Amino acid sequence: MEIGGAEIGGVGSTVRLRVRVEGIVQGVGFRPFVHTLATKLRLAGHVGNDVSGVFIEVEGPVETVEEFLAALRRLAPPLSVVDRVATEPMPPTDTRGFAIVASDRAGTAATLISADSATCADCLRELDDPADRRYRYPFINCTNCGPRFTIVRGVPYDRPLTTMAGFPMCPACTAEYHDPADRRFHAQPTCCPDCGPALVLRDAAGSPLPGDPIAGAAGALRAGRILAVKGLGGYHLACSATDPEAAGRLRSRKHREDKPFAVMVPDLATARRLCEVDPVSEALLVSRAGPIVLMDRRGNGGVAGPVAPGNRALGVLLPYTPLHHLLLRHAAGPIVLTSGNVSDEPIAYGDTDAATRLAPIADTFLTHDRPVHVRTDDSVVRAFRDRPMLLRRSRGYAPEPVRLAWDTPRPVLACGAELKNTFCLARGRHAVVSQHIGDLENYPTLRSYAEGIEHFRRLFDVTPAVIAYDPHPEYLSTKYALEHEVTDRVAVQHHHAHIASCLADNGHPGPVIGVAFDGTGYGTDGTIWGGELLIADLAGFTRAGHFAPVPLPGGAAAIRHPWRMAVAYLDSAFAGAPPDGLDLLRRHDGSWRQVAALGRGGLNSPPTSSAGRLFDAVAALIGVRDTANYEGQAAIELEQRTDRAEDGAYRAGIEPGEPLLIAGVDLIRAAAADLTAGVAPGIIAARFHNGMVDAIVRACAVLRDASGLATVALSGGVFQNLLLLDRAVSRLSAAGFEVLTHSRVPPNDGGISLGQAAVAAALDRASRRTAPSDRAPTTSPPGMPDHAQVIQPAAT
Ligand SMILES: [Zn+2]
Ligand SMILES: [Zn+2]
Repeated sequence: MEIGGAEIGGVGSTVRLRVRVEGIVQGVGFRPFVHTLATKLRLAGHVGNDVSGVFIEVEGPVETVEEFLAALRRLAPPLSVVDRVATEPMPPTDTRGFAIVASDRAGTAATLISADSATCADCLRELDDPADRRYRYPFINCTNCGPRFTIVRGVPYDRPLTTMAGFPMCPACTAEYHDPADRRFHAQPTCCPDCGPALVLRDAAGSPLPGDPIAGAAGALRAGRILAVKGLGGYHLACSATDPEAAGRLRSRKHREDKPFAVMVPDLATARRLCEVDPVSEALLVSRAGPIVLMDRRGNGGVAGPVAPGNRALGVLLPYTPLHHLLLRHAAGPIVLTSGNVSDEPIAYGDTDAATRLAPIADTFLTHDRPVHVRTDDSVVRAFRDRPMLLRRSRGYAPEPVRLAWDTPRPVLACGAELKNTFCLARGRHAVVSQHIGDLENYPTLRSYAEGIEHFRRLFDVTPAVIAYDPHPEYLSTKYALEHEVTDRVAVQHHHAHIASCLADNGHPGPVIGVAFDGTGYGTDGTIWGGELLIADLAGFTRAGHFAPVPLPGGAAAIRHPWRMAVAYLDSAFAGAPPDGLDLLRRHDGSWRQVAALGRGGLNSPPTSSAGRLFDAVAALIGVRDTANYEGQAAIELEQRTDRAEDGAYRAGIEPGEPLLIAGVDLIRAAAADLTAGVAPGIIAARFHNGMVDAIVRACAVLRDASGLATVALSGGVFQNLLLLDRAVSRLSAAGFEVLTHSRVPPNDGGISLGQAAVAAALDRASRRTAPSDRAPTTSPPGMPDHAQVIQPAAT
């Protein structure tokens, strides 16, 4: 065999190797796996944990050792992720037997912590086995499943540093825990009815209710009551998904007017009755991450109207904890399972907090005494062209690293965006993107953001040398970045971060033509960008094109009220004299002229090139929605209303130049003309979508001619619109472009932190190549001089 370039051990001879395994290899049953494998192959040696992973020494006939190394990757335990296996020959010692040896705790922690994992098949079998000592025990788990990230308080990942510390193991659990042949060997959260957490059912006032908690909770659901349930990463609110009154009551108590609820179904068969389950969606539903999977609905499938009003898609998830499995079996039917909070607040995860905040919403509480250490929302994903597309990357995915295709020379902390915030710690080839933090607009969320960063720094033992952040002066994440002590800082423009995120997601270094379409991002000229065409690589970008700006009349008010955006667009499109008879203007007869004048005057009406706002304007113009109750609502409903059979397209003018300008007003003018002529809103919505696609393809063709680049990266929240994304990918591919889309991180602002980290790492690599003694400022690559992102020494 060949080790490190040298041929060692002829056929039949005995060899001894030192083997290092790196990745997610602790707390996932890796040592017992190695022990079992080596014993089966009659190899000698030992295995143990240390701070950088698993170390092995193995000795035996050369062919058998080769077989061992091959099986090490191929048969690795389900929760493990093997990043690297390094081997080194040693002189044979002629010892016998294979042992698991004590852990070596010296040095710094470079190991990775597994995400929480849905209950495995072996545990489900025990859950249903009346002869098993964990029969119907709602906290059953093992080496291959159960809580991980949400219960970890510190490293090394051992029981005393988890929220299971308060539950000393009984003799039976202790015996399993220490038995290398047992499937609970060193399973830190293992427990049983004798020693583990217990369920309790309480009323809204906090008094315990008698009887079996599961049966009682299921009875409450069947009776139409609202149930608060403590899950892995926090509390959920649940009600029957087939009871319109219960779902309506949950909506009004939660102050959540329209945003769709997710539905937990007992099994795949029920999911298939409700939705079109394609193979990618099925794999996601049953995956150990257990996310909410968005799928197209089949009729209403018995789901009550208020669950996901007016939505073609439904978010569905399967039970992912034993508690959910037991509850769903008793509840007899799908249940709404939505975050345990009021409207936009962070979800409740502490028991006292939940009891206080959820008391006005929930009639009954199904809770327990295992603390949640890290608040973690459910992840949301949907299938796009045979790949998953993460829309919210949280429980089940975080904090497992996103593998990078390049090195990060110095550790980076990327602070993320303001909305749908995540942060990211990058080191080497790993980017650890945090769970979904949420909108940093309120104090509780900001606090959990700062605490979350500290927690990750300790967990992964990273001291960032570079902080990357969004230059928007008002973002709280920006303020955090500027107040924080660090060696260097880099401000990464919002839409450049989107494109860099798409590049990192795909392992593509660029340069590419980046199409970054979203609602709002701070531009380098101080205006609000959001419909951007960038020539970009990881280190810099040129703003090569964008939608021609229109005023955002009243600033934030125009984001909440799409009709204001429609007025601004009509005012631009028709030079202050929009056609008579538009219903929109009749609806806002008393105020549209003031809004138009406000936009024209410029006071509190910054110009914006936002593509998201153009979708808003069309939605309001054709009567889909005047006021948004949640971010992106008007655009989402416009997509829902589209007549998919219509293939006509409005044509937006493209004015050549640097940057080229796309005339969004042309689309508004065409839509207004169709509306006046009595064309149905669904047809207008389709022609608008197709017109956007057409504008993207023509603009990219112009930029290809100018730059020679034939790869397009699509990013930004607007590309959560699958109709737009699908048609854009088809048309761009047909025009000969290679197209990059998101998969591992969201196209929305949840992916911004990864993009910021990728930019910071690229600048660091470039500065090491060009100016080893003087790191800043970094020069931009040839051909893209406009907006080189620059690393700034932080000490001033
Ligand atoms: Zn299990
Ligand atoms: Zn026990």
